[in-house]
Amino acid sequence: MNIDPRYDNPVSAIGRLALRKTRDVAARHARVPGVRALVRHERCTGCGACVRKGFCRFGAIRLDDSRKALVDDQACRGCTRCTHLCPRNALTMEIRPTAIVRETLRTLDKELGRVLDPQKR
Ligand code: SF4
Ligand code: SF4
Repeated sequence: MNIDPRYDNPVSAIGRLALRKTRDVAARHARVPGVRALVRHERCTGCGACVRKGFCRFGAIRLDDSRKALVDDQACRGCTRCTHLCPRNALTMEIRPTAIVRETLRTLDKELGRVLDPQKR
């Protein structure tokens, strides 16, 4: 039986695990700190293209009851993708207050710390 030599080394195994966990955390939390998408309601026609065509890869945009686009603050990663795709230029970026940015960074640091050093709770 052929054993992949990478799996013989416990240090490599731990390294791989840490990397995977770090990636998981990054995938869940990665965002551009300090910015989020904002809908300019006066420009939004409610055409629904942003939802139908999946402008947002993170599912952060939906239509509200009045058929205007709505961005979920928690889900928006601040990637700006949607702002380039809206035919009405109704999506723009908003700079968030410093306190909110700090809170986001603190949460991320805390979770990364837990993943990388489970002893520290
Ligand atoms: S944000 Fe743009 S794409 Fe989305 S519903 Fe409004 S006008 Fe249409
Ligand atoms: S900025 Fe990126 S993550 Fe935020 S709503 Fe637009 S496409 Fe989605």
